[in-house]
Amino acid sequence: MTPDPHRYDLDALRIRLIDEREGEVDDSIPQLADADPELFAIALVTPDGTVRSSADADVEISIQSAVKPFLFALALLDTEGEALDRVGIEPTGESFDAVKLESGTGRPPNPMVNAGALLTASLVRGADPAARDARIAAGLAAFAGRDLAVDEGVAHDEHLLGDRNHALAHLMRAEGTMRVSADDAVAVYARACATVVDAETLAVMGATLACGGVNPRTGERVVPAQVARDVVSVMATCGVYDGSGRWMRAVGVPAKSSVSGAIVLAAPGRLGAAVVSPPLDAQGTSVRGRLASEALSDDLHLHSFAAR
Ligand code: GLU
Repeated sequence: MTPDPHRYDLDALRIRLIDEREGEVDDSIPQLADADPELFAIALVTPDGTVRSSADADVEISIQSAVKPFLFALALLDTEGEALDRVGIEPTGESFDAVKLESGTGRPPNPMVNAGALLTASLVRGADPAARDARIAAGLAAFAGRDLAVDEGVAHDEHLLGDRNHALAHLMRAEGTMRVSADDAVAVYARACATVVDAETLAVMGATLACGGVNPRTGERVVPAQVARDVVSVMATCGVYDGSGRWMRAVGVPAKSSVSGAIVLAAPGRLGAAVVSPPLDAQGTSVRGRLASEALSDDLHLHSFAAR
């Protein structure tokens, strides 16, 4: 029998893994370096809209790269699919901020690495950066079922200190694949990464993808089913950077990791989930997040490739 996520004890799982001490907190900007390494939250949301969460699931962090699936979704929606011609969908086997584009095309390799997300954030509807910021905020709010704040300090510092992101944006300008100014591209992307969420909210966002683009809490269709399918497919192959293969073998659930230690998961038709814990492994994946995701996958039979 398939185990019931409504009965799953998330606090017991949290307590089982909380003593794990591996990993380092990201130090690319002061706000991330100040993250509490003890923070550990797990939340899941089922297609009937039930939200289940552990302790800490209301603690706020910046979404960082867990925003990338949603930027890709909004770009697909706003360009009526043209985004699929502008960004590749192949895994890179390299780190999240590798200064490298697809050979031959000059496109970013996929929307889950920084190059790709800089591009997808530039493709959402809006004539100038402020309009694109507003479009992204409205889109993320629909995925989350509520308005989300932006941490202005994080947005500012990431814009200022994101040298590799500036390099990537300039490289795409030189290749002709980035059509807005490099500085505008980095500003909009940095602001999207600075969106504030908690584990519960991020789980609702993942559940919206897992439910074919319909937010299970509000009932709103946020993106067409085809867009949700495309996004989840690319999360499966590219969502955990150069740890994507290892992730799919061990967890088997499409996901997106981030430097704040947030991971969003989407198990189509089953549930959306989020795990937040700042200490990261060498691939930038939350260590406790990965262990908790493995346990959730095993205990709730979520692995995409396990025959049952
Ligand atoms: N905002 C971060 C950056 O661009 C995101 C990276 C991540 O979360 O993996 O460096």
